[in-house]
Amino acid sequence: MKKQHHMTADILILGAGIGGYETFRSLAKRLKKFQDRRITIVDKNNYFTFVPMLHEAATGSIEPTHCAIPLRALVAGTPHTFCKASIEKIDPAKKIVHTSLGTISYNVCVIALGSTTNYFHTPGAKEHSEHVRTLDGAMHLKHTFIDTIETCGDEPVSLNIVGGGYTGIEVAGQYADLAKKDLKKLYPHKKIVIRILQAGDTILPYMPIKVQKKVTKKLTQEGVLIDTQTKVTKVTKQSITLSDGRTLPSDITIWTAGFETEGKTFLKTGTNDHGRVSVTGELLMEGYDHTYALGDIAHIQDPKTNIAYPQLAEAAYHEGQYAAKHIARSLKHKHTGPFRFHSKGQLMPVGDWYGVAQIGPFLLFGKLAWWIRRTVYVLFMPGFLRKIRIVFDWTIHSFGVRDVISVDVANVEKRM
Ligand SMILES: Cc1cc2nc3c(=O)[nH]c(=O)nc-3n(C[C@H](O)[C@H](O)[C@H](O)COP(=O)(O)OP(=O)(O)OC[C@H]3O[C@@H](n4cnc5c(N)ncnc54)[C@H](O)[C@@H]3O)c2cc1C
Repeated sequence: MKKQHHMTADILILGAGIGGYETFRSLAKRLKKFQDRRITIVDKNNYFTFVPMLHEAATGSIEPTHCAIPLRALVAGTPHTFCKASIEKIDPAKKIVHTSLGTISYNVCVIALGSTTNYFHTPGAKEHSEHVRTLDGAMHLKHTFIDTIETCGDEPVSLNIVGGGYTGIEVAGQYADLAKKDLKKLYPHKKIVIRILQAGDTILPYMPIKVQKKVTKKLTQEGVLIDTQTKVTKVTKQSITLSDGRTLPSDITIWTAGFETEGKTFLKTGTNDHGRVSVTGELLMEGYDHTYALGDIAHIQDPKTNIAYPQLAEAAYHEGQYAAKHIARSLKHKHTGPFRFHSKGQLMPVGDWYGVAQIGPFLLFGKLAWWIRRTVYVLFMPGFLRKIRIVFDWTIHSFGVRDVISVDVANVEKRM
């Protein structure tokens, strides 16, 4: 058992994902004038993960660890600290956080703990499906897929993607591309059946009808089967059961259908019915002027329309920048107006060389949209060296086949 400690932190950031990482980066820059102020950033992993690229890591077009950045590198050479610990409880009234390593008291805290997968209490879903939410999840999926292809004999491999939102479509696009090009070269006799299962009437319900139709057509042309108005009611190791009574074989089930926030796990009060932390326009927890919440875990609404901002990387990134600005200006006793977010648009790849871009009122389909998405995402990826590695991975992948090395780290063979 690890020894429990009590630590003190000046400015404490909980979670080093897209929102927390950007809060740290932006605040560290602003604090250069405040020599005595220190940031402690805490995460259960010792790396930052760029979640929007994980489906590419799972399908071998990016080396998985290239989607991540070691957090030690973030604090190296700065007066700030990284602490690898799991957050258990947050008490904003006492300004104390309970972690797997002990307690941390703070002056200012930023809660940026993200969200988790929602399996909607579907029997077997958590135990038997894969996901692309975390780096280890993406690496596990990559191993499971390649291992299944290697060992399936002459049987077709059935891959079922639960959820027809952005992630489901991105995952389906990558696998369709992989089946069409890479499997043909590397495993010419293997067949893969890819199916999307969507509970609603259409895929991409939040996108314009034109996008829904074009993406449906594109995926269908690539051989992807799309079942709408179909809920998955049970998942086993080898099958899925659907709301219309069918049971289909499923060598690999990938769950992309929903997510939930764990605000209620961490906080006694201050969360809404969906477990999201309620905050003011300044991203401060209601009733506390020292505890901020942002990113997926926070319920932040537009002060004019009262509509909640989306749980997306773009929003989390800007919320992180805003929190950093608000904290730094508060140290100078300066007022900062409420946070406002204006999305620049939506970008989505559907396999290689085809994308959808929704920029303001304009819709773009095809290679240019795909290229814009790649460029924007690599620019968003923090760290110059990581950007270079990803561009190299993509370039190598464009000229060759995907990396199909399958490492089963869960079952290390101790005896040689
Ligand atoms: C598969 C997938 C694809 C996506 N694609 C896109 C996209 O293309 N475009 C887009 O805009 N958005 C996309 N999103 C949404 C986007 O990734 C999130 O909105 C964004 O990451 C939210 O940022 P965050 O900082 O709130 O949380 P995260 O980036 O998830 O970071 C949360 C951090 O908290 C840490 N953490 C969690 N719990 C604990 C704990 N108990 N103790 C310690 N640390 C903890 C985690 O390790 C993590 O580092 C995608 C999401 C998924 C799952």
